[in-house]
Amino acid sequence: MSTTETTIADRGVDAGLPVIGHWIDGAVRPSTSGRTAPVYNPATGAVSAHVALADEAEIEEALASAQRGFETWSRYSIAKRQTVLFAFRELLNARKGELAAIITAEHGKVLSDAMGEILRGQEVVELATGFPHLIKGAYSENASTGIDVYSLKQPLGVTGVISPFNFPAMVPMWFFPIAIAAGNSVVLKPSEKDPSAALWLAELWKEAGLPDGVFTVLQGDKLAVDGLLTDDRVQSISFVGSTPIAQYIYETASKHGKRVQALGGAKNHMLVLPDADLDLVADQAINAGYGAAGERCMAISVVLAVEPVADELIERIKERIARLRVGDGAGVDGVEPDMGPLITREHRDKVAGYVDIAEADGATVVVDGRGFAVDGREDGFFFGPTLLDNVPISSRAYQEEIFGPVLSVVRVKTFAEGVDLINSGAFGNGTAIFTNDGGAARRFQNEIQVGMIGINVPIPVPVAYHSFGGWKKSLFGDAKAYGVHGFDFFTREKAVTSRWLDPATHGGINLGFPQND
Ligand code: NAD
Repeated sequence: MSTTETTIADRGVDAGLPVIGHWIDGAVRPSTSGRTAPVYNPATGAVSAHVALADEAEIEEALASAQRGFETWSRYSIAKRQTVLFAFRELLNARKGELAAIITAEHGKVLSDAMGEILRGQEVVELATGFPHLIKGAYSENASTGIDVYSLKQPLGVTGVISPFNFPAMVPMWFFPIAIAAGNSVVLKPSEKDPSAALWLAELWKEAGLPDGVFTVLQGDKLAVDGLLTDDRVQSISFVGSTPIAQYIYETASKHGKRVQALGGAKNHMLVLPDADLDLVADQAINAGYGAAGERCMAISVVLAVEPVADELIERIKERIARLRVGDGAGVDGVEPDMGPLITREHRDKVAGYVDIAEADGATVVVDGRGFAVDGREDGFFFGPTLLDNVPISSRAYQEEIFGPVLSVVRVKTFAEGVDLINSGAFGNGTAIFTNDGGAARRFQNEIQVGMIGINVPIPVPVAYHSFGGWKKSLFGDAKAYGVHGFDFFTREKAVTSRWLDPATHGGINLGFPQND
């Protein structure tokens, strides 16, 4: 049993709270495993519910239902599948406010940011509505005399999606709209820290007319994940989370013969050249460093300032930090803050630990978010925006992902030194350059060993019809999320070589290997 896990019997003062269940066979399936984990409202620090943690019997039930769902759904015509997808898109668009409130209550991010993540997920739903064009095969008539060759793109079967806490709606939507459009069934294992968004999405699918078993939510921890990774019915795994787990997922699922895409952690740098517009840079460093309290895989965590701009830039970032409002993401008296709390008390303490490490290693703490409290929300998991200067690159605070509202300034002398530093890092998720020099930007995009690049854009999350994914320890596997990669990942190609005999030109017997003519 993990440290956060409790049993229903021993949860004491929380005994009156609801237990968030699974979604199996088109309905909420209350858990019978007797295993749960607490779910918090991070702004108040209070436990708001418990989430079921599946046992073997529940995993089996979910997978058996998903297999039946696949057998039904994969026989639906393209036109019928498209009708369901359009209905889902319309319902999501009309009711997304409900989903945003659920995300804020369990994750803590401010409501407008929760809405932002839904809109980016909705983009993928909209892309998926156009799936017939994206999964049609190719046809070569008369490839050899009297012989036609064509390809079919067929669904895989049951597909598994395992998602992180920081985007409880958007990250699942990177995968399931395309998987479902292509004729697969999906078993989603959400983060146990914010499990309710997945259930809301499941109900929406039901309302949109999706047959039972095509979209399943299996709440749980490592046991549920391992169930998906090892069961023969599961054909593919799409994972997003931290790098050590992404690597484990990739290795385990590959060993069990599955197609895998496993997106991991990040440490994203913003390279600031001396000719950049420093007001634009300071604004964007604030947005990309402190938005969602830094709990984004595309957050900027390192500002690499090419001297002599560092002192001036730090002043401008400091001024802006002083104006940031931190509080309950749901707002108080209708006023929304800029930044909410972190996900758990343990995570807040871990972030504080990285600031301690940086300081001990010789960094200057310019703005200190440790010990930050919000009036009326004293038990919330808040951490103030933090700015560090001269962070040594040997420090763990520079090398590891902090995943909190901590911006580290590192000073370099030249463009080339900045590029080398970025390229020497373990991660390769996102990066950005700020400059007015087109030649420098072009050289940067060519030389940088990172999957997603911004030019005067701090969080370069690609639109739905391009694909999302990093390099190095930020992505294990060959396929990125959504875009053309998504359609390739969720389909399997068959090539058919066909001859319909023309009685007038029957070729007779020939035992030789087939030749093209
Ligand atoms: P996490 O790795 O702790 O958890 C992700 C998922 O894996 C959850 O569903 C969790 O239940 C499961 N899991 C956790 N430990 C496991 C184990 N030992 N065995 C099997 N499954 C396990 O990540 P998180 O804290 O929820 O999310 C934050 C991380 O996700 C950050 O590192 C962030 O950079 C990363 N992330 C990456 C991207 C990307 O696109 N590259 C996007 C969002 C988040």
